[in-house]
Amino acid sequence: MVSTTVCQSCAMPLAKSADHGAEADGTRNEEFCAHCYQGGSYTDPNLTLDQMVEIVARFMQKSGDEATRAAREGLVDLKRWR
Ligand SMILES: [Zn+2]
Repeated sequence: MVSTTVCQSCAMPLAKSADHGAEADGTRNEEFCAHCYQGGSYTDPNLTLDQMVEIVARFMQKSGDEATRAAREGLVDLKRWR
């Protein structure tokens, strides 16, 4: 059984090969998505967890506090934010 892999930075599901980030040599990165990780490093290395929570909450298109809480819950256990 294969569990669904999610980006270890933003929690986006990595369903397709194109969803994955890339290493500096062009090979596929297994842990991060194409939005978060390109060319072997984070696309925004200075991003904080709080900023990522805001981005993800906005993406979920729910109202304020509820979305923020849900986003944070989904993000805190990810490798990038531990
Ligand atoms: Zn990501």
